[in-house]
Amino acid sequence: MVSRVIPVDDFDLVIFGATGDLAHRKILPGLFRRFVAGQIPETSRIVGAARTQMDDGQFRDEAAKAICEFAKVKKNDPRLAQFLELLGYTPIDVKGEGGWKELKSRMRDGAVHAFYFSVAPSLFGDIAERLSGHGIADDNSRIVVEKPFGRDLASAKALNATLAQHFHESQIYRIDHYLGKETVQNLMAVRFANVLFEPLWNAQYVDHVQITVAETVGVGGRGSYYDKSGAIRDMVQNHMMQLLCLIAMEPPYHFDPDAVRDEKLKVIRALEPVLPEDIVRGQYQASGDQPGYLEDAENPDSRTESYVAMKVRISNWRWQGTPFYLRTGKKLRARTSEIAITFKEPPHSIFDDTGAPKANELVIRLQPNEGMNLKVMIKEPGPGGMRLVQVPLDMSFADALGAEGSDMPDAYERLIMDVIRGNQTLFMRGDEVEAAWAWTDPIIEAWEDSKRAPEPYDPGSSGPEEALRLMHRDNRRWREIRS
Ligand code: NAD
Repeated sequence: MVSRVIPVDDFDLVIFGATGDLAHRKILPGLFRRFVAGQIPETSRIVGAARTQMDDGQFRDEAAKAICEFAKVKKNDPRLAQFLELLGYTPIDVKGEGGWKELKSRMRDGAVHAFYFSVAPSLFGDIAERLSGHGIADDNSRIVVEKPFGRDLASAKALNATLAQHFHESQIYRIDHYLGKETVQNLMAVRFANVLFEPLWNAQYVDHVQITVAETVGVGGRGSYYDKSGAIRDMVQNHMMQLLCLIAMEPPYHFDPDAVRDEKLKVIRALEPVLPEDIVRGQYQASGDQPGYLEDAENPDSRTESYVAMKVRISNWRWQGTPFYLRTGKKLRARTSEIAITFKEPPHSIFDDTGAPKANELVIRLQPNEGMNLKVMIKEPGPGGMRLVQVPLDMSFADALGAEGSDMPDAYERLIMDVIRGNQTLFMRGDEVEAAWAWTDPIIEAWEDSKRAPEPYDPGSSGPEEALRLMHRDNRRWREIRS
């Protein structure tokens, strides 16, 4: 299969926070890979901006180092030298007035102008205000803002209001890198480009849905930062909410940014409040010489969750009575992200003597080894009567798509190219983010008001025992966490 790379329009991209971790690990290597793929016109300009005093040459050296490390290229790769030609640097403290004039002089008429805010959210307002105050951004410019987008409804609203003073919603690209993952987009293709699943995609045929995002790492070096957030803010409000929306939403009338986002918003608004008995929080314990969450967070009294499992109900016609179980955590048994849709058992079995058919299950793996697995019943081969056995129809996208499948663009690559194209489908709209916080806030507040302690769990386990009970109570079981 030959991949079609459609070059984007000539652009000037300014990266605020260009000396930071995200720029080094994701943004610059991602741009380099798109350049190598032939998607970036050679006339385009990428301007780094941060507080460090540096000239263009020093920034190129720094960028080269990051790209060699994170895009795994050799220092003497001729394409690297070509790419570095696109780069420039303007020192700017975004809280001050210096440097903006120089930045403005680098922007070319006629090119797409995009500004990537890869800095702490507390600086978004300073940048937005100065970009417009200095006449650098206009009605055609785009801004890209990183997560976290607020830490509750009030702060998200305030952030939206600040950006709205200088930019229209159609200019704002709020990143949730999960939406840039190939398999996440595939959720829409699977649902809306096949006739097979959609007729069954409702409470009549789906027993329940499980969404799991499991990590093996702890909070390690960023413990004190993480401790102010926790799994609900860090994973559920954004990434898992997006996955839930893509699974649960109605078909949009068209694959159009606002049509898709309208449908996602309807799902969020239909979420019922989570009952206290439907949520389990956990903290990983110390094990051997490995510190536990409390030591990692440097806060012996912390009640912040490194694990959460919850039962979520969607109050609409399609999903009434079909629970969605969400769980995510650190230091679990394996690193995996998957969505499992368990269908109902056949209403009647004609195979009385040989075991009732088991429910079909469709598992969509986001990582690792992106792919799909559909469990179906067949006859066990061989003589001896009609015995049933459940077998997987297993597809790895890498195998199915050959080389192209194993070399899929990283989420950031895809999302940055979408910004240049002006396509907002895979970015969160302001009202969507606010609706997600409006649902999450009471869950967080109820916990803060309670006196309960998080349930301990062993590192390398599947999470706290209590989370198993959340499922057993409903006569269901979590899928095994494995990579
Ligand atoms: P970082 O601390 O490594 O880098 C911050 C950058 O901002 C640096 O270049 C710094 O020089 C610049 N900066 C700070 N104050 C400035 C000022 N007053 N004027 C100009 N520049 C200033 O942070 P990061 O990890 O690169 O994260 C950047 C953003 O991306 C944050 O919003 C973060 O939440 C988000 N994010 C990061 C990651 C990641 O993997 N690193 C993942 C998801 C989201």
